[in-house]
Amino acid sequence: SGNRLYLGMDFGTSGARFALIDKDGDVCAEGKREYPLYKSLETIDWARSWKTTLFSLLEDVPNHYRHLVASISIDGTSATTLIVDSNTGQPLSKPLLYNESCPDALPLVKSIAPVNHTVCSASSTLCKLVSWWNSADSNKESATLLHQADWLLSFLHGKLGVSDYNNALKVGYDPEIDSYPPWLLAQPYSQLLPYVQAPGTSIGYLKEDIRLQFGFPNDCIACTGTTDSIAAFLAARATLPGQAVTSLGSTLAIKLLSTNRIDDARFGVYSHRLGNMWLVGGASNTGGAVLRQIFTDEQLEELSKQINPMKSSPLDYYPLTSIGERFPEADPQMAPRLHPRPENDVEYLHGILESIARIEGKAYRLLKDLGATEVKEVFTAGGGSKNEKWTKIRERVLGLPVSQASQTEAAYGAALLALKGAQLSIQ
Ligand code: ADP
Repeated sequence: SGNRLYLGMDFGTSGARFALIDKDGDVCAEGKREYPLYKSLETIDWARSWKTTLFSLLEDVPNHYRHLVASISIDGTSATTLIVDSNTGQPLSKPLLYNESCPDALPLVKSIAPVNHTVCSASSTLCKLVSWWNSADSNKESATLLHQADWLLSFLHGKLGVSDYNNALKVGYDPEIDSYPPWLLAQPYSQLLPYVQAPGTSIGYLKEDIRLQFGFPNDCIACTGTTDSIAAFLAARATLPGQAVTSLGSTLAIKLLSTNRIDDARFGVYSHRLGNMWLVGGASNTGGAVLRQIFTDEQLEELSKQINPMKSSPLDYYPLTSIGERFPEADPQMAPRLHPRPENDVEYLHGILESIARIEGKAYRLLKDLGATEVKEVFTAGGGSKNEKWTKIRERVLGLPVSQASQTEAAYGAALLALKGAQLSIQ
């Protein structure tokens, strides 16, 4: 198996990417495609756009590598849902996107699920399912629910109704007992729920027509995937309890590997299962979007160079672009605090970066107080990760080693799942 390769594909919000890696995790090829955005009746035909992109990416995998591909996995946006005919695979309605809301289903879902359960949000997969079930008139009995990643993988392996416990969390799957809970199984639409396996588990060999069309080998398998944000976490290769990834993009999001599960709806904190550990996450409204309101990216670089990261800033801000914060402080009325503004912009930026670092520190402390494993090391992703002065400030404020993640593409994380699936299936 020395020269075998592993293919990961990421279906994000605006486009899709692939990464092809070897057994050491080195990247042999990567590529990306924007969605073609086919329209039917003036609305975007997402199903057709994704399916076309799947085949375009497979075409983009260099020909001379294809016969070495041992396994393929795919991640998709969380809570993006398709309901298909269980016999033909034909979608029975248009896909319901990750952020699409089904408030009509919320009262019913709240009446059957435990208080504050992840499914009790109008955009949850379960609300999408209930909303469809209540409005559909035909074919209800021979339908299957699939997440975006499950659906795309089904074109490769040919089976309908297989998912993973990361994608299935928002439809109500309980990864702790490794089953759908009794309150969900008691519902008439529970027959639509997919069979769930761990992410990175072999589903089966590729269909013969796919193998022949692209030149993949006879033993190439398709493996269960995960969600896009978990795939991005996996890319950083954090594997031990206490290792974490802070994403410094428009907002600040943290994800921590913990030996125990914590969930707290007040702060929007919840846990995904990852093998025998839990991936605990929370997202703050602070982050890079505020920086962009005040400085250009060029100014950010220039001013950052002049910051002395060893010196602590006395300025105490709470940078937000609008009113309201969820994590690490649950306060929907919280006002942005960016004053007093010193005359010197280097001092101002230093104060903002340091204040965001303090919020990050508070976020990790809160996770510990809620019962998660204490953070020991932080990898960083997102636009803010390339700012070395900020990294130094964060090391001082957090009192921890902080480094830039070497890989941050979700497609790379999906390729690692393909690798895992291939290794498990030859054991
Ligand atoms: P997202 O995908 O969440 O929109 P990105 O990961 O692309 O965000 O990161 C963009 C953010 O990175 C911007 O909001 C910007 O403020 C921030 N950023 C860009 N350059 C720097 C820099 N040199 N230092 C700190 N932050 C930066």
